[in-house]
Amino acid sequence: MISPAVIAEFENILGSQNVMRDETDRHAYSYDSALVEQVVPELVLRPTDRERLGKVIRLCNENRLPLTVRGSGTNLSGGTIPSRENGVVLLTNALNRILEINTEDLYARVEPGVITAQFAAKVAARGLFYPPDPGSQAVSTLGGNVAENAGGLRGLKYGVTENYVMGMEFFDAQGEWIKTGSKTVKCVTGFNLKSLMIGSEGILGVFKEITLKLIPPPQAQQAMLAVFDAVDKASETVSEIIAEKIVPCTLEFLDNFTICSVEDFRKAGLPTEAQALLLIEVDGHPAQVAEEAEKIQAICRKKGATRIQKARDTEERDKIWQARRDALPALSRQKPTTVLEDATVPRSKIPQMVRGINDLSKKYNIEIGTFGHAGDGNLHPTFLTDRRDKAEFARVEAAIDELFEIALGLGGTLSGEHGIGVAKSKYLEMEIGKGTIALSRKIKQSLDPENILNPGKVIGG
Ligand SMILES: Cc1cc2nc3c(=O)[nH]c(=O)nc-3n(C[C@H](O)[C@H](O)[C@H](O)COP(=O)(O)OP(=O)(O)OC[C@H]3O[C@@H](n4cnc5c(N)ncnc54)[C@H](O)[C@@H]3O)c2cc1C
Repeated sequence: MISPAVIAEFENILGSQNVMRDETDRHAYSYDSALVEQVVPELVLRPTDRERLGKVIRLCNENRLPLTVRGSGTNLSGGTIPSRENGVVLLTNALNRILEINTEDLYARVEPGVITAQFAAKVAARGLFYPPDPGSQAVSTLGGNVAENAGGLRGLKYGVTENYVMGMEFFDAQGEWIKTGSKTVKCVTGFNLKSLMIGSEGILGVFKEITLKLIPPPQAQQAMLAVFDAVDKASETVSEIIAEKIVPCTLEFLDNFTICSVEDFRKAGLPTEAQALLLIEVDGHPAQVAEEAEKIQAICRKKGATRIQKARDTEERDKIWQARRDALPALSRQKPTTVLEDATVPRSKIPQMVRGINDLSKKYNIEIGTFGHAGDGNLHPTFLTDRRDKAEFARVEAAIDELFEIALGLGGTLSGEHGIGVAKSKYLEMEIGKGTIALSRKIKQSLDPENILNPGKVIGG
C-alpha cells in the first residue's frame, strides 16, 4: 500500500486532480492493446509539466514505487501493464506541446505526449515531412513511438522511428536529468545513449523532450495494387522487387482471409477471389516515380499477377491505403479474441514465412489472417480465437511458440516493431542468449538501481 503521507506529497506536487485514486480511474489504466493479464495500479499520476515529471519520478524512487510510464497504451506487448505491487502509472498525455518546428535546420522538439499524426500534420503544414506512420498514429504518442522504436507503412524506404531521433532529454530512475544527441546533423559527443534509449520500453528512463529529424516531402507518389491467384506468387514478387534494387516507400501484403474481412468491413472494392494482394507505393521525383512504377508492374506481371491497378488520383490512392489500415479492425471482428504478432524475417525469406504461417493454421486448426509490411520482412499473422475456449487458446499459444521458432530458424527476429514487453519476454533468450540478457540487466541496474522503472518488462527481473 502507498502510504497516505506519500499520496499527499504527490498531491502537493501535481494537485489532487492529477493524482487518481478511484477504482474506476485506476481500472482504465490496467490494460493496454496486448492480450496479457490486467493489473490495476494503485495510483495514476498525471504531471502537467516537465519539472513536475522529474519531481514525481524522484518521489517514486525514494519510496521504491514501481513506475510504468504510459503514452496512449496502444502498444501490443503489454508494455504499459502496471507492476503487481504498489504500481504507479504515470501518464504523459498532458506533456503534449510541440516546442519548436525549425524549418531552417529541419528538426522539431516535442514533449513525449504529442500525438504522432497531429505532429505529422503540423509538420506537413510547414512544408516538411515526418515519415514514421504506425497504424496507430491517430492515437499513439511520440514518446511511446520512441520507447517502442515504432515502424509503419513507410519503413521500407524511410526507416523507422530511430532514424528520426536526433536527440533527447530524459529522467533516469532517480529523476536525474540526462541529455543525449543534439539538434545538429552530426553529433559524436559522449556515449550514444540515445540509441540505448530508443526501444527501451520505459525500463531505463522517462523521456522529457525529444528532438526529431524532418525531411522535405516527396514531390510525387504512385500507389498501385497487384492481384495474385496464389500466395507464393505474391510473396515471391516481394523478394523479386527487392532483389531488383527498387525501393518502394511501401510494400504491403494481404492474404485472402484478410482481403475478405476488409471487404466485409467496408466495401472497398477489393477482389475477394484473390489469394493475395500487394499494395505498393513509390515516391520521389516524378520521372523516377514513373520509371519505378513501370518496373514494378513488369515484375508483378512476370510473377503472374492477374491484375494490376494504378491509383489514378488521390481518392483512389486513399482507398488503397484505407483498405490496408482496415486490416486489423476488420480481422478483429471475426472472433472475440485477436492476437496480432510481428515476427520478422530477412526479406528474401518472406515466401517461406508465409508458407510456415499457413502450415501452422492447418496444423493447429486456427484461423490466421496475415497482412503486413512484406517489404520489411515484417508480417502480422493475426490469430483469431476465443480466449474462453481453453482448448483452442492452448493451440493458439502452441502455434505462436512455433511461429517464433520458424522466424528465428529463417534468420529472423521476435519483433520487428511491437517490442517485447511482457508478452514476448519468455522468448528473449531464444534469440539473444543468456549473456546478452545478463549484460542488459547490468545496464538496467546502473540506471535504475531500485528497479522502479517498468519492472519485469523486456528482460524480466
Ligand atoms: C491498431 C494498432 C496499429 C498499430 N500499428 C503499429 C505499426 O504500424 N507499427 C508499430 O510499430 N506499432 C504499431 N502499433 C503498436 C503501438 O501503437 C506502438 O508501439 C506505439 O509506439 C505505442 O505508442 P503509445 O503512445 O500508445 O505508447 P504506450 O503503449 O503507452 O507505451 C509503449 C511503451 O513506451 C513506454 N513509454 C511511453 N511513453 C514514454 C516516455 N515518455 N518515456 C519512456 N517510455 C515511455 C511505455 O512504458 C511502454 O513500455 C499498433 C497498435 C495498434 C493498437
